[in-house]
Amino acid sequence: AALGLQAVSAVAAIRDVVIEHEEALGNLDAIAGDGDHGIGMRRGVDAAAAAAQKTANLPGGTSVAAILTAAGEAWSEKAGGTSGALWGTAFIAAAAALGNKDSYSSQDAADAVGAFSNAITTLGKAEPGDKTMVDAILPFRDAFLTAISSGTEVIDSLKEAAVVSRDAATATSALRPLKGRARPLAEKSLGHPDPGAISFSLIVERLGQHFE
Ligand code: ADP
Ligand code: MG
Ligand code: MG
Repeated sequence: AALGLQAVSAVAAIRDVVIEHEEALGNLDAIAGDGDHGIGMRRGVDAAAAAAQKTANLPGGTSVAAILTAAGEAWSEKAGGTSGALWGTAFIAAAAALGNKDSYSSQDAADAVGAFSNAITTLGKAEPGDKTMVDAILPFRDAFLTAISSGTEVIDSLKEAAVVSRDAATATSALRPLKGRARPLAEKSLGHPDPGAISFSLIVERLGQHFE
């Protein structure tokens, strides 16, 4: 039960950071995309947080996997847009990797991060350098797995990897978008970071603070 409540509060933390940055994410997406990254993420996280809470309240519904799966399904369904489908699918994949256990190891956390990242690249088919969230996610995953395998605690690994991911998201400013809606306006996008990379790095940074 305690683990289920932690999952609910982690999804609520994701909701809070997205809401704080909703307008900025929309403005960033308006530069070369369609301007809906803030509102789309907002719809997704509102639905995910509500679904997580609702699942935790069901009799016997408090497993981490059940809560995160419900959150991912709601996120995909309600967000609309490319990023919502990717986040929802990745959440469900991470939940499946975690499964139902009484406690989770560092290796479980590494497996969940790997499953999240694989789901994004399998569904979205973006390559590194295409100027998408993948440019923040792969460096995050690599830093997280490296930290875990060198014996660093999960929360410290998360914090280290979040810093790597923020730098990588910022560095997408130099790239031209090769995937998604921003591609036709690639020149406008130059000098500005990718919205999906920025929102990912904000979320993992907040999760690091949330769990400390
Ligand atoms: P939409 O592009 O449908 O309006 P959003 O504005 O919510 O959706 O999300 C845009 C973000 O989605 C981009 O900044 C990029 O990070 C991400 N994205 C777009 N296409 C892909 C893809 N094929 N793979 C991974 N991420 C992608
Ligand atoms: Mg958009
Ligand atoms: Mg859109």
